[in-house]
Amino acid sequence: MTFSYAKWDAVDASDGEEEEPIEPYAGPSSAALKAAAAVVARKARAREFPEEQPRSAFAKVARGDDMRGLADVFLGDPATFEPKRAKGVARHWGLGVAPSDDRRRRALTIEFLYRGLDTPEKQFVKALLAKKRAALEEASPSSAAGRDLELRVSLAPYGDTSGPIWRTLRVSGSLTLWQLHDAALGPAMGWSRGRGAFYFTDLDDGATWCPVGDLDASDAATARDLFVDALDPRRTRVGDALREPGASLGYTYDLESRWEHGVSLCRVFDVDESRHGIAVLDGALRCPDEDGGGIAAYAAAVLDPWRAAGGSLRRTATLDPPRFALGRAVLVEAPGEPEKGAQWEGGAVVRTNVDRDSAVYAYAVRLDAPPHPNVLVPVDDDDHVRAKDGGADVEPTAARKLWDACRARDGAANADGPFDPGHFSLAARRRAVAAAAREPPKRRSDRVCAVCGDPRRLASCVACKGLSYCSKACQKADWDRHRPKCQQIRAERRKGVPR
Ligand SMILES: [Zn+2]
Ligand SMILES: [Zn+2]
Repeated sequence: MTFSYAKWDAVDASDGEEEEPIEPYAGPSSAALKAAAAVVARKARAREFPEEQPRSAFAKVARGDDMRGLADVFLGDPATFEPKRAKGVARHWGLGVAPSDDRRRRALTIEFLYRGLDTPEKQFVKALLAKKRAALEEASPSSAAGRDLELRVSLAPYGDTSGPIWRTLRVSGSLTLWQLHDAALGPAMGWSRGRGAFYFTDLDDGATWCPVGDLDASDAATARDLFVDALDPRRTRVGDALREPGASLGYTYDLESRWEHGVSLCRVFDVDESRHGIAVLDGALRCPDEDGGGIAAYAAAVLDPWRAAGGSLRRTATLDPPRFALGRAVLVEAPGEPEKGAQWEGGAVVRTNVDRDSAVYAYAVRLDAPPHPNVLVPVDDDDHVRAKDGGADVEPTAARKLWDACRARDGAANADGPFDPGHFSLAARRRAVAAAAREPPKRRSDRVCAVCGDPRRLASCVACKGLSYCSKACQKADWDRHRPKCQQIRAERRKGVPR
């Protein structure tokens, strides 16, 4: 059979319609414009508060806010608010520390619904803030502001003041909480100054003080997860926040690592006994390397093993056997040109030795290939030798792990020399407190006397405005030390060097 194409040629494949001309677009119709304007107006109205107050005893709730992710506490009445307690103390006025998915969702919701208006949580906390401010300002015969206070601060969560890392201080009750952090607690503990943000928490009612206006972007985001709003630590004096012996505050340094301390008032001195300065009285143990990720991580890696070892670092570490046996094929950091960095060359362990007296780990490794065949390399540390196949003959002991954990902390921002968890130098902490007073913060209202730490009645050096003093006597006592710096500041100012 043959196939004919002829009938296909006759088929009309066109759709029979004329090509229509394309009309230019004339914009939305007036009806569409009207509808869009109505939607915009309705959304704007939704942001205003409606007359009725659904489900909240106190706060006004925006229309469209389903209140999912809103903690129950904010639905109550701030006048009768009792803080929730975790491990015995009140924390952060109804907020948990870790943001939940519901709270993340809520953060987006309120950003959309409450532009420029106070959210229910903010209204609630505002009322608590007002109540707390009134209580703080209330003149009380028991107020310890204006008198010396003996404080005990210790690094431990939940305001526990019995932690093993502690300091006692004698400070003026007139210090603001900001000054207490900057000029007293930080340097007395051994934290780097001006590095991490901080907040104080009243352990009875959950009120929080945080310099929220001074936080950088990442700290500000963290702070929003921690609390809705906070009191200004520049406006509360220590003696007003802590009035009676036994009262305590939580002090948290660094919003990321969140080093929690308990600060308790041990003693209030009489006015005529008070010296109004800042003095470190005593203490124990150095504070952690501050990037160490919080007290739990530090305790697991350093503090607990150190205590298990009887509070000794060096002695127990030196009992650790060498990790590689005789004859083991290893790679060793071999002699090379320093600028080329580490050169790892193959060899074999030909001698092992633990020198228990000098705490030196000694291997001798004979290299077995060019460029240094047969060269004998002495090795004093496990860091400079590793097994060719990756493993080790002897797992490091707990003591060795502790030793390594401490060596890894030698370069921490707040490490002063080899890191030893047991090291505490009262003289060094006193020097740090004195140095903080002599390096005044930018805001003049945050300063303390450069000599004695008294925060009251300060006057700046007339010549340079660089340092502040509480009295002529303190300024006179400091003049020999201050003169060169003073002259330098004045010279720079004459030359117009910006400060
Ligand atoms: Zn002074
Ligand atoms: Zn001066």
